[in-house]
Amino acid sequence: MVLDKNLIIILIDGGRVDRAMRSPIFTNLQSKSVFFPQTITYAPYTNAAMHALFSGCYGNRNGTYSYWHTYRFKKNKFKTITEYLKDRGYFTCGDGHTKLIVPKHGFDEFHIHDENKDDLSKRHSNLIDLVKTKNDQGSRFFLYLTYSNIHTGIKDEVLKIYNNFSEEYFQNKTINEKRYDRFFSKAENYLEIILKKIQDLGLYKNSIILIISDHGISVGEKFGERAYGSFCYDYTIKTFAYLISNDLTPREISSQVRHIDFMPTILDLMEIKLDASYESLDGESLIPLINGSKFEENIAYSETGNPWYGKAPPKAPNTKSVRTSKWKLIFNEYDNTKELYDLENDPDENNNLINSGLKIEEFLWNELTEIQGIK
Ligand SMILES: [Zn+2]
Repeated sequence: MVLDKNLIIILIDGGRVDRAMRSPIFTNLQSKSVFFPQTITYAPYTNAAMHALFSGCYGNRNGTYSYWHTYRFKKNKFKTITEYLKDRGYFTCGDGHTKLIVPKHGFDEFHIHDENKDDLSKRHSNLIDLVKTKNDQGSRFFLYLTYSNIHTGIKDEVLKIYNNFSEEYFQNKTINEKRYDRFFSKAENYLEIILKKIQDLGLYKNSIILIISDHGISVGEKFGERAYGSFCYDYTIKTFAYLISNDLTPREISSQVRHIDFMPTILDLMEIKLDASYESLDGESLIPLINGSKFEENIAYSETGNPWYGKAPPKAPNTKSVRTSKWKLIFNEYDNTKELYDLENDPDENNNLINSGLKIEEFLWNELTEIQGIK
């Protein structure tokens, strides 16, 4: 029975799962968390990924399915985790580098930081002090924090310098890796400070903490995508999540899970019932999986708008994928081509097995068609 715990969500924007898995700070977390190394995002860019995470629903249903659709979120049909907690009397507070990244409904306070200037460790430590004060005054809290500086570094040193077809970028993978690692190590420092703050204030015992990435970032794996948001390959759609609560036994979950599953999981942990006056969720609680009872892996759906030669991403998704732990089918709507990958034997997705007579192709295509039909 876990009633009325605080909730802290920390987004490491653009955090790659391979880097997390070799980081001492992140791997240390595994001893106290349920670790999901195969967490699939709905969209490999921030706003649609986070709207899906907050609502437990894919963007093709909740309305936020492109960079341009933050304000198209169907707030009367989809209730966010923030709103659930607000209804329960929580103090709800968020911080991000733009107001566009998460649905704002239900937040008492949403702060915007200057990603180029602000010291996020200090700023977020202060916010943790603030919510602790609310706790001491008898109110539970939900705190959402964005660590935006990986994104900031990539914006300044990759997005502004190269385009998706700059030969120089794709020919210098080692430089790209080192650049990314430099940004990631700052994220590690940040996380270390924030987790110590949570520890020092004694918040582990009465909080559920989710540390998550919205999408990975390319280091030059596939020509045509210098950062993220163009394709649906695993180096961007496969991310990490660490769920911490003292009623969960730390373990690693090898199955694929989806961003949309975390909202229902947190509600389940808090024993909060879904509000029947809203639409049903795409996500499912992961508690049965965490507890080791039988759990059938769900298909993960992702989509994005490949800008190709254009400067801005298109207004509707044109690249879509369905994925299991073992297989992925990609549908490139813009040129009507498909790709099929055996993720177990070809994790870098280099060997396209489409039209090679594999039964899984039809199965995944049907799944994709079905999810599209919901729109
Ligand atoms: Zn992001």
